[in-house]
Amino acid sequence: MRGRPAGFLIGLVCVLAGCAPAAALPPSPASAPSPATPTLLGIQTRHGTLFVTPQIGSADRDAWSTRLDWAAESLEATDLGGLTDDWDGRLDVELTAAAAEFSALAGPDSADAAAVTRCLAGRGRIAVNPQVLILQPDYLDGLLLHEAVHAALASPCAAGAPLWVEEGLAEWVATEHSPPAEQTDLAWAKQTLAADGVPQTLPPDAAFAGGQLLPAYALSRSAVAAVVEHGGTDWAMAFFGRAIAGTATADEVARVTGWYRADLTRLAGSERDGK
Ligand SMILES: [Zn+2]
Repeated sequence: MRGRPAGFLIGLVCVLAGCAPAAALPPSPASAPSPATPTLLGIQTRHGTLFVTPQIGSADRDAWSTRLDWAAESLEATDLGGLTDDWDGRLDVELTAAAAEFSALAGPDSADAAAVTRCLAGRGRIAVNPQVLILQPDYLDGLLLHEAVHAALASPCAAGAPLWVEEGLAEWVATEHSPPAEQTDLAWAKQTLAADGVPQTLPPDAAFAGGQLLPAYALSRSAVAAVVEHGGTDWAMAFFGRAIAGTATADEVARVTGWYRADLTRLAGSERDGK
């Protein structure tokens, strides 16, 4: 990322992370009519259904069908223990050509999100913001895989899971299969550690907002990676399941926090040493 203006990095990470609406944007007038739900054509792929509007051309249809299958296969190849037991291995992805169509599907608060996964009839369904279609394929791969984790875990269909677990898992899976996504998250983590030092706690839900959003994604990925590395995959995935269900014990959280802080301390040290 060296040599690029900071805004460029933020924009790309923002896109990857699926940003919350920018605070600077004026709110939509309350009286604005809801955009009509677009008519979508369902295209069956090997591992799911790509829903497109007629304006999506054949090149985008082909590229996103391939990307959908890659994301599903990458997710299938990642050992998430029992977390994906209820997933049928298929993804539903919506691709529209106009911002209003995306808003109609994803909700009015999603205008600046790169992609959104919502709950539809008990399944997670992904809508991709047409504004990101021009971005690099590598970034779009990471974006779709991130959302695919939310869809496979049906996260939008349940509430209450700690955001560091949900977003950290999504980022961790994406970075396991997308080196550019990992580089971006590591750059954010190092930058945050250099500015603020090693945090005392796991990322709180309140960190997933405003200017802290991108570091929160990056640090959550580090937290998930630390649990997998120190606890082993089986223990890690069982722990994440308990954390999502709200049954993780204080002792477990304390142990995980120790692993997380140790890894971040090492990362901060390697950055200082110029490694
Ligand atoms: Zn997410």
